[in-house]
Amino acid sequence: MASYGHYLTKEQENELRAIANAIVTPGKGILAADESTGSMEKRLTPLGLENTEENRRVYRQLLFTSDDSLAQSISGVIMFHETFYQKTDDGTPFVQVLQKKGIIPGIKVDKGVIPLAGTLGEGTTQGLDDLNARCAQYKKDGAQFAKWRCVHKISATTPSHTALQEVAQVLARYASICQQNGLVPIVEPETLPDGEHDLARCQKITETVLAYTYKALNDHHVFLEGTLLKPNMVTPGQSYTGPKYTNADIGLATVTALQRTVPAAVPGVVFLSGGQSEEDATLNLNAINQVQGKKPWALTFSYGRALQASALAAWGGKPENIGAAQAVLMKRAMANSLASVGKYTGGASDAAAAESLFVANHAY
Ligand code: 13P
Repeated sequence: MASYGHYLTKEQENELRAIANAIVTPGKGILAADESTGSMEKRLTPLGLENTEENRRVYRQLLFTSDDSLAQSISGVIMFHETFYQKTDDGTPFVQVLQKKGIIPGIKVDKGVIPLAGTLGEGTTQGLDDLNARCAQYKKDGAQFAKWRCVHKISATTPSHTALQEVAQVLARYASICQQNGLVPIVEPETLPDGEHDLARCQKITETVLAYTYKALNDHHVFLEGTLLKPNMVTPGQSYTGPKYTNADIGLATVTALQRTVPAAVPGVVFLSGGQSEEDATLNLNAINQVQGKKPWALTFSYGRALQASALAAWGGKPENIGAAQAVLMKRAMANSLASVGKYTGGASDAAAAESLFVANHAY
C-alpha cells in the first residue's frame, strides 16, 4: 500500500474546504441551470420558442438577474459551457452577475451519458480526456465548483457490477482532476426513478451505489472535505403501484442510506430533484432534515427541474412576464431554503408546483 504520489497541498485543501462549506451554508442550496443544449429544447419548445443560443441566453438572464435577495437561499449556480460564457443585455458576463450577488459560479464538466457496451441498457459518462485543461480554464474564468452526472438504472438485473465499478471510477477520476485544479467536485451518481421498485429496493441500490462511490474516491485519494455529494433521494419508482409512502418514510429511508455509506468528512449532500414535483421535492427535503439521529453533513438541494419548472411556465417566453417568473423562482428557492433546515411548513404550493416533472430515462 505504499503510495506517495502527488497529494494536494494544505493550501489547496483549505481552499477546497472553504468553497464546499460556503456552498452548504445553512439555509442555502444550488440552482442547477446546466441543462445541455439538447435538454433546453425540451424546456423551450413547449413555450413555442425556438431553441436558439439567444433564447437560451434570455432565459438564463431571467434566472440570474433575479433580485439580489436570491442569494439568501441560493449559494451556487451550475452552468453549461455555453451559459458560463454568456452575458446580459448590457454586456456583463453571467459569471460576474452571480459573483456580484455573492453566488458562486459552477460548471458542468461532463459530456453526457453514453452506452456501456455489453450491459443491459446501462451507461457511463464521458468527458475525461481533456478534463484537466478544461478545469484549469474554468477555474481561471471564475468557476469554483463542478458537476459530473452519472446514472444507474434499477431493474431486476441492474445496476450490474460492471456499471457500479465503472461509474465509481469515472466519478473518482473526475473528482481528483477537479481538485487538482481548485474546483470542488460535485459527485453525482444518480439512481434514476424509472421503474416499479418499492422504497426498500431504492434504498438498497442507493446504498450499494454510494458504497462503490466512496471506495473509489478513497482509492483515488480524493479530499472528501472538499467534495459534495449529489444523490437521488430514496423514493419508490415512478411506476410503483403499492401502498403510498409518506414524506417521513422517504426522509428516513434517505437518511438511513446516507448514514450507512457517506463519510462524515463530506461537508454536504445536495440532492437532485429527479422528476419529483416542485412541492414534493421541497416536502421530502424538509422531511429528510426532520429525521432525528446522526446527520453529520448539511442536507440541502441542487435542483434543476424543481426550481425552474413553474418559473419557466410563468415566463412563457414573454418579456412582460419576466418579473413574475423571477418572483416564482424566488418563492421556490425560499421554500427549499426553509426545507434545508427542516422548517418548511407548506404554503409555496399551487397547481404548477404540484405537477410531476418526471421524464423517462432523463438526460441532462
Ligand atoms: P433535477 O433536479 O432536474 O433532477 O436535476 C438536477 C441536476 O443537476 C441533474 O444533474
